[in-house]
Amino acid sequence: VYRTQRICAGTGGSIFLKTTETQPAAFSPIVATDLEEIIRKIFNAAGSDDSEAAIVANHLVEANLAGHDSHGVIRTGAYLDCLKEGAVLPNRHAQVTGDRGNILSIDGEFGYGQVIARESMEMAIERAKGKGLVILSIKNAGHLGRIGAWAEQLASAGLVSLHFVNTSGHGIVVAPYGGRDRRLSTNPIAAGAPLPGQPPMILDMATSVVAEGKIRVARDRGDTLPEAYFVDAEGNPSRDPNAFYADPPGAILPFGGHKGFGIAVFCEILAGSLTGGASSYPSNETVERMANNMMTIALDPDAFAGSAFFEADTSRLVGWIKSSRPSVSGGQVLIPGEMEVRVRQQRLNNGIPLDQKTIETLRERARGFGISHPSLLEKRQ
Ligand code: NAD
Repeated sequence: VYRTQRICAGTGGSIFLKTTETQPAAFSPIVATDLEEIIRKIFNAAGSDDSEAAIVANHLVEANLAGHDSHGVIRTGAYLDCLKEGAVLPNRHAQVTGDRGNILSIDGEFGYGQVIARESMEMAIERAKGKGLVILSIKNAGHLGRIGAWAEQLASAGLVSLHFVNTSGHGIVVAPYGGRDRRLSTNPIAAGAPLPGQPPMILDMATSVVAEGKIRVARDRGDTLPEAYFVDAEGNPSRDPNAFYADPPGAILPFGGHKGFGIAVFCEILAGSLTGGASSYPSNETVERMANNMMTIALDPDAFAGSAFFEADTSRLVGWIKSSRPSVSGGQVLIPGEMEVRVRQQRLNNGIPLDQKTIETLRERARGFGISHPSLLEKRQ
């Protein structure tokens, strides 16, 4: 149970974002299109065909643009390591293993999650448009990255969606409510709704209080963490990151106490037990490779109250919510997904700030494939 998380598994988490970019950048920001070109060339050189390399690169850079750096190009090195050890397999496609019309079962065959999910969402769009509702399960996908991307893909086709994700076999770092031992992964959920004349509403979050990566960063920096992020092996709240990595280790808490815990458990049920990808039960650690699994429910507003009502009502709702007075002077009420839209615009304008370690890793990986790019290789300041 106390198995170390494998490097290709995701534990979620984003940088701490404010409406205005505040992340310190050790290097001058990189233009998004340059970064995407570098990542695409790296995956291409690593064995992905042109289409796959482009899809993976685009997903990672879009995660950076959204401000979720934990799911951006920082993953490149880990993905390549997974490729090398055979944990992820290149040039795989979503395989339909079950088809009941509006119930589709997909096997990702351990291909890149970005390709598997994108192809699966395309199928969901086609079916939902005809049948009004599609429930689509994905098992055995490589890391599915930023789950909000899949809600965005469906919303761009006019669909409302719900997504529940688990990680079978590896990446178990979260304690159940009332417990002190690691039993669950960070099990993200996402939901999306198209909005007329504006970007979609996208909820996209881990069900843990914090990403494991943030505890690792704090340990490396010698920092302490806010209380209530995790408990030590004795179940006591701890602020010392070393207590999390001790033997026996600590465990991250679910967000929102028993409520977040309940949602995390249903990620296991929906994404693990129902899809066939398997839950976090320890015997599943015999599963050959780490896998992300996802249950997606996609709904066409036309099949319910109709698009006209849906558009009018969601518009009214957004205006109503945002008309609340801010809790603090100068603050703002944002709807789910609005923060990401704002950060995206800032980063498209100003570039993507990457930390020195990520730049060096990318530089090293690119050099290993004989790839050079001015944005990466020049001494940046
Ligand atoms: P987070 O805590 O930053 O929460 C993000 C959500 O909160 C978004 O919907 C965002 O729009 C909303 N939000 C942020 N600030 C807001 C504000 N001021 N007002 C209103 N809403 C606001 O995200 P997280 O839980 O750290 O997750 C980060 C990423 O990690 C996500 O993209 C998630 O999909 C990903 N993840 C992936 C895996 C995996 O296994 N593939 C696992 C865990 C997490």
